Amino acid sequence: MYDLTIIGAGWAGFNAALRAKSLGMKVALVEESFIGGTCLNHGCIPTKTLVQSAKIIEEIKKARNFGISVNIEPQLNFLEVIFRKDKIIQQLRKGMENRLTGIDYFSGHGQLLDNRRIKINDREIQSSHILLSQGSVPFELPGFPFDGKRVISSDQILKLDKIPSSLLIVGGGVIGCEFAQIFSSFGTKVTVIELMGQLLPGVDQEIARKLETIFKKKKISVFTSTDAKIFDSKDFELILVCVGRYPRIEGLDKLGIAAGKSGIIVDDHLRTSVENIYAAGDCTGKLMLAHYASFQGICAVENIKSPDKPCKADNRVVPACIFTSPEVAFAGLTEEQARKNNFQVKVNKFDFLGSGMARIQDETEGFIKIISDVESGLLLGAQIIGPKATELISIFGVSLSSGLAVKDLKNTIFAHPSLSEAVFEALD
Ligand SMILES: Cc1cc2nc3c(=O)[nH]c(=O)nc-3n(C[C@H](O)[C@H](O)[C@H](O)COP(=O)(O)OP(=O)(O)OC[C@H]3O[C@@H](n4cnc5c(N)ncnc54)[C@H](O)[C@@H]3O)c2cc1C
Repeated sequence: MYDLTIIGAGWAGFNAALRAKSLGMKVALVEESFIGGTCLNHGCIPTKTLVQSAKIIEEIKKARNFGISVNIEPQLNFLEVIFRKDKIIQQLRKGMENRLTGIDYFSGHGQLLDNRRIKINDREIQSSHILLSQGSVPFELPGFPFDGKRVISSDQILKLDKIPSSLLIVGGGVIGCEFAQIFSSFGTKVTVIELMGQLLPGVDQEIARKLETIFKKKKISVFTSTDAKIFDSKDFELILVCVGRYPRIEGLDKLGIAAGKSGIIVDDHLRTSVENIYAAGDCTGKLMLAHYASFQGICAVENIKSPDKPCKADNRVVPACIFTSPEVAFAGLTEEQARKNNFQVKVNKFDFLGSGMARIQDETEGFIKIISDVESGLLLGAQIIGPKATELISIFGVSLSSGLAVKDLKNTIFAHPSLSEAVFEALD
């Protein structure tokens, strides 16, 4: 009898398993595909590996701004880029496998028979608790069914063996914008269409507008408030549809586990509607981010181990990062959200044009925006578009989680010359 059986070894399930092991629980981890789930195999890691290759091309093209002559155009060997991506995935996968010592890993499809019995292929195990962390899959858009050849998903675009000459990206959200950036740098003619009124729906409008302007400068065509149906798909070599992801909920209704299109329904402590069964990660349909999936997985395990000291899986401060060029990152409330929540909003801004380090790095495009409450002086949120935004946002992750005020950041000494000084300058 296991203390905990986890279905799905993505970022939620894997981190939950490690925490359960360290708390002395007897753990079974069931995975039907590769350890690491979407994040390692079709998400965060492969995309950021391609982002890095795209960045290098852009940097080589800018070399003369740094006094370096490069006399030939950079040549992209796409197969080598793909080979590097696959190698990094394999190395990280090995690392994850090595950390499984003390956890029983089952390779196969996990099927719940009831709230204590799980069938894996042709064997059955029993467990006093179950954690569902089965992730999500790409959403298929009516009228654009995936055929794996011309109309492809974010999983399938990572398996291409050549760069398309033209690419229509349906969906200008995080995933769509990252692929637009990557393939534009690789030399593809990229068009992005978004049904909503801005790229990155839900993100601060000013930041989204800035990214759109930068995309257009890079000759990426952007159409917002536009339905994909108006385009003739024959005009593009490939169509990438990335309009969101479906939480995986198949087979759960038979056991009475409440779930719908928006995911498995869980309470603040990640309990499903069935006793002893918890859920974490993308399958709960909350914030579909790897670090939030991991946080939920760990929180669920702590609730199973110590129900008297419950961990609340609210959305707290979850930094979100978009690896375009320049990068985008945010944490906490936007200006609009803060106003809707009746705060007396103060917005402090600083343009990277005024940053010494941004000039040194020749990456002056973008700004940092800090939202605070006038009355209390408390920090409410921050949005950044600019160099290393995905690293700088951690300053606000820590500050917001710790309930810091503007004066606390103003009293902090930031090293010079550094990009992080922009935080201090913004508050000046
Ligand atoms: C292109 C792309 C880029 C992304 N980039 C980022 C990023 O930069 N940063 C970020 O934070 N997030 C990113 N994400 C999101 C991130 O990948 C997900 O939020 C994260 O992977 C969710 O983890 P999870 O453990 O909930 O689910 P998953 O990673 O999807 O893992 C679920 C696992 O469960 C397994 N499974 C399902 N059902 C069963 C079953 N019945 N039996 C056995 N196994 C089963 C699946 O095979 C899978 O391995 C990206 C996603 C995509 C698609």
